[in-house]
Amino acid sequence: QDDGGATDHVDTPKTVASPRPAKKLDAEVIIIGGGPAGLVLGTYLDRAGVDHLIIDKAHHPRPHVGESLGCSTTRILKEIDFLPVMQREHFIVKHGVCWSVWFDTAEISLDFRDLGDFGYAYHVDRAKFDDLLLQHARENGSRVLTGVQVESVDFNRQGAATGVTARVGESRLTLKSRLVVDATGRQALLGRQLQLMKPDPEFRQFAVHSRFTGVDGGHNGAAHFTRVHLLPIHRGWAWQIPISDEVASVGVVTDRQHFVKAGDDIDRFFQWTINLNPLLAQRMKQAVRLREFCLDGTYSYVMDRFVGDGWLLIGDAAFFVDPIFASGVSVAMHSAKFAAEVIAQALAANDVSAPALSGYEQKLRAAAEVWQQVVRLFYQVSPIFGRVIAESDGRLSVLRLCEGEVYDDAAIETLTQLRHEFDVIHNTPDHPLRQHLMQAIG
Ligand SMILES: Cc1cc2nc3c(=O)[nH]c(=O)nc-3n(C[C@H](O)[C@H](O)[C@H](O)COP(=O)(O)OP(=O)(O)OC[C@H]3O[C@@H](n4cnc5c(N)ncnc54)[C@H](O)[C@@H]3O)c2cc1C
Repeated sequence: QDDGGATDHVDTPKTVASPRPAKKLDAEVIIIGGGPAGLVLGTYLDRAGVDHLIIDKAHHPRPHVGESLGCSTTRILKEIDFLPVMQREHFIVKHGVCWSVWFDTAEISLDFRDLGDFGYAYHVDRAKFDDLLLQHARENGSRVLTGVQVESVDFNRQGAATGVTARVGESRLTLKSRLVVDATGRQALLGRQLQLMKPDPEFRQFAVHSRFTGVDGGHNGAAHFTRVHLLPIHRGWAWQIPISDEVASVGVVTDRQHFVKAGDDIDRFFQWTINLNPLLAQRMKQAVRLREFCLDGTYSYVMDRFVGDGWLLIGDAAFFVDPIFASGVSVAMHSAKFAAEVIAQALAANDVSAPALSGYEQKLRAAAEVWQQVVRLFYQVSPIFGRVIAESDGRLSVLRLCEGEVYDDAAIETLTQLRHEFDVIHNTPDHPLRQHLMQAIG
C-alpha cells in the first residue's frame, strides 16, 4: 500500500554511494514523480546501490493516459526483472499495430514477431501498471512517499540544486539531497520553474479518450494489436487499444481548432470524429462508454537543458512528442536508465555538476531530435505511411525505429532511408501511391 499518511519524517539513507558522507541529507538523490520514469530510475539506482527517495503527489493506483507500450520497453522491463509481473498480471501482449485510412476499409497490419527477442510489447491499464512498478521499486529498496506534492526545487547561491520543498496537507517540509531528478511528467515542475520549456508551435494537439466495451477488435489474428485509424482532418487520428478482452481504450487526437469548434459538446465531437473513418465507425458500432471522457492537451515541447548543477530531467519532464508512435513510456524508461548510469558515475566521482552529467544530455537530446523528425515525417505522408512501411525492404528497421529504438546511429540511417522512399513516391508522377500522398492533411 501507499504511504498515504506520509509525514515530515524521512528515514535516514541506507546506502551511501559516494565518498562524501550523506549525514545531513534526506537522500543522495530525490526523484520527483512516481510514473514510469521515476519508478524505473528508482529500480536502476537500487541496483547501483544509490540511496534515493521517490516522491509522488498522487496515491497510486491513479489513472493515466499512455496504454500502448513500444517493443523497446520490453527490454527495459526484462532488465529490471519486471516481465514475470507482466505475465502474472495477464497484461495483453501486443504483437503488432494495424493502420487504417479513411479512404480504404482494408487495414495495413504490421506484425512485430519478426523483430526477434523483443518483438512484442504490452497494452496496460496505467493505474495498475504504474502501481505495480511502484511496488516493484519498493521491493527492490526504493523509498517512496506518495500524497506529497513537491512545490519547488531548492537551489544554493551558486545555482546548484540542494533538494526540494514539498507540501503534505497543511505542512511544508524541506528535503535535502545531492541530486534532484525531475520525473513529474508533463507537469514538468523544474523545467517550468527554470523557464526551460520550448513549446513546438506546430503541434498543438488535443486528445479525447475513454474506455469502452463492445468495441470490435477484428478477427484477423490481430485482435490484440494496437489500432491506429487516420482521420481526414488536420493531424487527426484515433487509437484503439485493447486493455482486456472486453474493454478497449479509444481516443481521438486532432489539432486544437477542432475542439474549439465543437464547443462543450465532447460527446458529439467524439462521435463526429469516429464517423470520419468508416472502419473505425464500424468497429465502434456496438461500443458502450464505461466512464467519463478524459481530455488531454498533447502539446509538444522540449526543454532547453536536460541537466544542470545537481539536477536532471527525465521522461516527459524533459520532452514530449505527439503520441502517434506511443513513444512516451519508452522514452520515460530509457531516459531513466541513462540517468541512472550517469548518476552513479557522478556520485562515485563526487562531482554532480552539469558537465559531469552532460553525457546524459547528449544522448537524450539526440533521441528527442529523432522522435521529432519521425513524427514530422509521419504527418507529411500519413495516408501512405503504414502502406510504405509494410512494403519496404527496410520494414524491420523502420518497425524497430517506430517501436522506440532511437538511441544509435542506425536510427538516423533508417530515418534517412525512409525519407528517401517517400521522396521517390512524391517525385514519381505515375507512382500508384502518389495520389494518396497528396491527401496528407498534416
Ligand atoms: C493523449 C496521450 C496519449 C498517449 N499515449 C501513449 C501510448 O499509447 N503509449 C506511450 O508509451 N505513451 C503514451 N503517451 C505518453 C505517456 O503518457 C507519457 O509519456 C508517460 O506517462 C511519461 O511517463 P513519466 O514517468 O515521464 O510521467 P508520468 O507518467 O506523467 O508520471 C509523472 C508522475 O509525477 C507525479 N507528479 C507530478 N507533479 C508532481 C509534483 N509536483 N510533486 C510530486 N509528484 C508529482 C504525478 O502524480 C505522476 O505520477 C500518451 C500521452 C498522451 C497525452
